[in-house]
Amino acid sequence: MNSQIYDVAIIGAGCCGASIARKLSAYEISVVLLEKCVDVGFGVTKANSGIIHAGFHHPITSLKARLEIRGNLMFDQLHYELGFPFKRVGIIVVAFSVEEMKTIEHLYSQGVANGVPRMEICGRERILSLEPQLNSDVVGGLYAPTGGIIEPYRYVFALVESAQKNGVEVKTQFTVEQGIREKDYWIVKSKEGETIKARYVVNSAGLFADEVSKSFDAELFEIIPRKGEEFLLQRNAKGLPNHVIFPVPGAHTKGILVIPTVEGTLMVGPTAIETDDKYDVETTSQNLETVFMQATYMVPAISRREIITSFAGLRPTMKGNDFYIEPSKKQPHFIQVAGIQSPGLTASPAIGDYVKDILKQEGLQLIEKKDFDPFLPHPIKVRELSFEELEKVVEKDPKYGHIVCRCESVSEAEIVEAISKGHATLDGIKFYTRAGMGRCQGAFCTYKILKIISRETGMPVEKITKRGDNSWIISQRLQALADEKAER
Ligand SMILES: Cc1cc2nc3c(=O)[nH]c(=O)nc-3n(C[C@H](O)[C@H](O)[C@H](O)COP(=O)(O)OP(=O)(O)OC[C@H]3O[C@@H](n4cnc5c(N)ncnc54)[C@H](O)[C@@H]3O)c2cc1C
Repeated sequence: MNSQIYDVAIIGAGCCGASIARKLSAYEISVVLLEKCVDVGFGVTKANSGIIHAGFHHPITSLKARLEIRGNLMFDQLHYELGFPFKRVGIIVVAFSVEEMKTIEHLYSQGVANGVPRMEICGRERILSLEPQLNSDVVGGLYAPTGGIIEPYRYVFALVESAQKNGVEVKTQFTVEQGIREKDYWIVKSKEGETIKARYVVNSAGLFADEVSKSFDAELFEIIPRKGEEFLLQRNAKGLPNHVIFPVPGAHTKGILVIPTVEGTLMVGPTAIETDDKYDVETTSQNLETVFMQATYMVPAISRREIITSFAGLRPTMKGNDFYIEPSKKQPHFIQVAGIQSPGLTASPAIGDYVKDILKQEGLQLIEKKDFDPFLPHPIKVRELSFEELEKVVEKDPKYGHIVCRCESVSEAEIVEAISKGHATLDGIKFYTRAGMGRCQGAFCTYKILKIISRETGMPVEKITKRGDNSWIISQRLQALADEKAER
């Protein structure tokens, strides 16, 4: 066992754990981030709508509303420091009847009470001038210009990279199995056989926060997964709106949305269906029907013929429907960060701050680092360069001139950079660079990417996985055939 005693161990490298780690990296303490997957951000955080909510959906009496508002306000600074894709495109909630306009008025008053700036109740003309793609039967709606969109995985990668740059240690493939209290610290054991010690433990294990809490003999509670299916349409799809479009919300859900993604594709969804299976991420044609019926009612030009893929995510909900962020009442120096359903992504920067304050109240001494560096270099993206800029970068590194993913214009140099930062699975590279995320869904570039990973890491192609564990992509026999073909 490593004899070092960390000041803080954070369990789970989703947007919450990553944000807490990055926040703590500004202080003179030792921090370790423990993640069971092969890469960070591979839990709930990788499969969501990427919306930075404005903050009018929940009453200010809930913790999630307070953290949502604070989190929303923090994204400009974070974007400036870390460079992940983020745009404040604004949110529109549409009403199709006088009855629905009453809900719009309620959302507006709630937003005002919550402190959401610059919201507007709009009549038909105004809403159609803001968003000409809307069904012309629209009666009016709510406009919240501070809503935004991000790429959630790039956000987590950037948070973790920044935390590491400032001294945080990251251990992936460390599945926390048990915590034992000894003297004034925790012994944290992993399924893989590794053990670490830490004075404070933060449980931000997403869907599995209930199991982690139990394994530390802390509170017993249940995480109830609420599944959301989403459908992704190609770049410049018909009906692509300028804003994120919401219907008036239901009792437990914000409804089916039409979402322009930050990289120019279009997403519709998510559904909201409770399940008892924490691994159930299948999508069904029946739910595709429901999603498209509701989405095309708001934006008629959307066409399902432009779907390029579908995915599902599971919201980690809890009884009471609020976030559960507080020190354990049963165990010392154990902080619960659980029930982080939507708007968890939006709230995550504020959750980092909030947990830092809890740790301080619980006795952790926090002295600011003099040499904390909040900035990361912004990665080069070939698809965003002008011809002249491209010429310059290719002169420095010809790999920028070799396009591997044609749909998303991703160069070999960008893939090499992703690998050098530890993202050496097919999904890791996809989330870091977007290679394989476009129209052909990797049909053209997958094998090329496998060969680059193999060359850069020395790993045989048949050992490379899609997302860790047993998700191998290619068998030895298939590789031999592919090599033969490539040589011909
Ligand atoms: C379909 C859908 C759409 C959504 N859309 C939005 C949106 O648009 N805007 C918004 O604000 N929010 C949205 N959300 C909510 C948001 O995605 C979540 O609130 C957020 O991602 C939760 O982050 P987390 O860090 O708590 O959990 P996770 O991302 O799941 O992170 C927890 C991590 O802990 C790891 N872990 C689990 N058990 C262990 C263990 N024993 N040992 C070590 N590691 C462990 C997991 O592998 C995981 O990486 C959406 C959610 C869904 C499902």
